[in-house]
Order: sequence, then C-alpha cells, then structure tokens
Amino acid sequence: MQEKYIQYLIHHGSLRKENKEVNVKINCKLNGKYCGKCCYNTEMPLTREDIKRIVKLGFPEKYFVNFNNQVPKLKNIEGHCVFLDVQTGKCKIYENRPLGCRLYPLVYDAKENIVTVDKLCPKFNEVSEETIRKYEGHVRDLASKVLKGKLN
Ligand code: SF4
Ligand code: SF4
Repeated sequence: MQEKYIQYLIHHGSLRKENKEVNVKINCKLNGKYCGKCCYNTEMPLTREDIKRIVKLGFPEKYFVNFNNQVPKLKNIEGHCVFLDVQTGKCKIYENRPLGCRLYPLVYDAKENIVTVDKLCPKFNEVSEETIRKYEGHVRDLASKVLKGKLN
C-alpha cells in the first residue's frame, strides 16, 4: 500500500475557501464500523496549510508530521496514522483532515498520467465518473506539487 500511495499522491491546496468544499463523499462504513484502511501505513503528504490548521487544534508538529521525506507527511504510530482511532476506525480530526485525505480514494497514477480511484479502497466502485471529473484538477495540482517537492 505504501509504495502505491507514494506513486499516486494526493491533493495540495492551501486551504483556500474553495478547497474547504473538497470532500469526496464516500460511505466508509463496513460491517457496521468505519473501514479506516487508508489510514494504515499512510504516506499522505501535508501542505503547509494542513499543518497550520492541525497545529491550531493543539497538536504540535512533531506529534503528527514526518519530515523524513522530500515532502512532509502524516506520521504513523504502530502502523497507522496518529489520528486514527483504531477502535472505531474514525479519524480524530475528520473535519480538519488533510486535503489529500479529503480527496481519497481519488489518486494520481503517474505512470498512466491519469486521475483514478485507488482499488485498495473497498468502496472504490462507489466513486462516480462525475466525481472524478469534479476533483481531477485538485488531484493533479497536489500530485504536481508533491512531485516537485513544493508543498507551500
Ligand atoms: S479505504 Fe476507502 S472506504 Fe476505507 S476509510 Fe479509506 S476511503 Fe473509506
Ligand atoms: S488524518 Fe484522518 S483520514 Fe487522514 S490518514 Fe489520518 S486518520 Fe486517516
């Protein structure tokens, strides 16, 4: 999953007003519980605005940012994102989660140069073509900036 995730990478955005609306709607419940699969071994890049917003919630950068890469990414503990509640499968900062998380399971496939739906998501077939078209620009924007190492 990690390797695939690095290839795709997600959306950047300084949480401009219009980006607050970025939210690929998907029902993440599986067997009565939130799935949370994409929150394990996450490679999600963080924009400067993502970091600022989450810091404002009271989390110090060192708690959630992994700076050991070309671009800052979400930190994992015990194999999952620091913000995942493993009991419920819920994101602890759902309303303020990174833009990449808002766009997932939309991903950029660099090899094919297409925006697509990550088949690792068990609900991948619930994402419509219309949704892909709606958010394609955001996904490409992030992927481009991540690949250039310019997330600010
Ligand atoms: S893998 Fe898909 S269904 Fe599971 S939490 Fe992530 S977006 Fe939701
Ligand atoms: S911030 Fe939330 S949605 Fe994003 S990987 Fe972490 S737990 Fe999952």
